[in-house]
Amino acid sequence: MRVTTAFSRLLRLKGVWVKKVCFEHDRVVVFVALRRRRLVCPLCEYSTRARRDTRPTDSVWRHLDLGTWRLEIRCRRRRLRCPEHGARAEGVPFARPGCEFTRDFECLVAWLATRTDKSTVKRLVRIDWDTVGRIVARVCADELDGDRLEGLFDIGIDEVSWRKQHRYLTLVVDHQRRCVVWGTEGAGAQAADRFFAALDPEPASDPPGPDPPEIGPHSPEPLDPEREREDPEPPVGERASQLRAISLDMGPGYAKSAREHAPQAIICIDPYHVVQLANRALDEVRRDYWNQLRRIGDKEAAKRFKDARWVLLKRPENLTAKQAATHRELQRAGGDAWRGYTLKEALRAIFLAGLTLDDVTVLIDRFVSRAARSRLQPFIRLGQTVRRHRDGILAAIRLGINQGRTEALNNKVRLITRRAYGFHSAQAALALVMLTCGPITLAPPHESYSSPHGRP
Ligand SMILES: [Zn+2]
Repeated sequence: MRVTTAFSRLLRLKGVWVKKVCFEHDRVVVFVALRRRRLVCPLCEYSTRARRDTRPTDSVWRHLDLGTWRLEIRCRRRRLRCPEHGARAEGVPFARPGCEFTRDFECLVAWLATRTDKSTVKRLVRIDWDTVGRIVARVCADELDGDRLEGLFDIGIDEVSWRKQHRYLTLVVDHQRRCVVWGTEGAGAQAADRFFAALDPEPASDPPGPDPPEIGPHSPEPLDPEREREDPEPPVGERASQLRAISLDMGPGYAKSAREHAPQAIICIDPYHVVQLANRALDEVRRDYWNQLRRIGDKEAAKRFKDARWVLLKRPENLTAKQAATHRELQRAGGDAWRGYTLKEALRAIFLAGLTLDDVTVLIDRFVSRAARSRLQPFIRLGQTVRRHRDGILAAIRLGINQGRTEALNNKVRLITRRAYGFHSAQAALALVMLTCGPITLAPPHESYSSPHGRP
């Protein structure tokens, strides 16, 4: 078999034939030519037989490694004139426009980035992390299904930090499919407004018919037409009007946007956030107690107590044997930290699956009064917050948005955003979240070859 034929089989690049293969000191270089006669615009469907000219140099793409060799694809591309995009080098079927890697290589990198840590990916594929970020963003843009915002009924809107210095992403979760369906850079009402704009693009500014349909049960008494023109209610988009429940944290930003764009939806408080607040309150109590120990000069006890942080924040069933011993010690010692701990655990237990709404209602009220009497400032404040959001918390339970359901996805999102900390763009961080926790199933490149459908 000739070398060029062998490489044609090995590389499995669509739409090309191999002209020549060279071995350089650190790489294998494969020269290919496109099979098709027509020139295709890299950015749209436009194709033509008219060649403007040929690029004077070869284009280069990195492909999947061959054994320990780096593998480079080179191709001389012709140029065309697209009526929309002007003069362009023709598109190639095996790579995305404007990038220096083949689709298979990008597929491998994106799959690895969702599965393993940063240094492993960098070392294995020999590219820097920002390049990984750009690849991830391209793959995500290609793979995201335009229909993913169809059929949303119960959603959650939440922020997650993707970088130090309070850089946030806002993510929208579909509670029924248990995945992230949308995201944007930033937080607060404006970020949520962008979601509703994406959910219902181009809201009908002036409904054509003479009687615009009534909007939900909130429609007030009929307004006289004069006033209506002066003070128009913002129209509720079609898909926004289907939302049944929106779960949120306890801040004001998302709630404002949700009430405005989907007034019929029930606003619930994600139990996940309530438990998170309780963990924060406990941490404050623990820190105070620790400072107290240090002040009175009990260094040994102070150190032991600092180490106890994870023991207090972890779920009791997840403790290691050593941590469990510390746990028992803390219990024997009693004190503020232990009281805070029992309060936190009591609150967490309320949201475990299996309790009826009536049970939860009784337990929440009991928690609020216990917290008020706790003499621990952070827990007194927590109790007040829980009381203020009681209706929203109970709504979440009624609609089945319990702690267990949201926690797994939340933990996954947080793990991934920590991995994305090294990226320089929010777009890359968001793409990694979407590829890992979104409605996309990535597979390593060889799996798409063995499937009966072949490459898309
Ligand atoms: Zn074009």
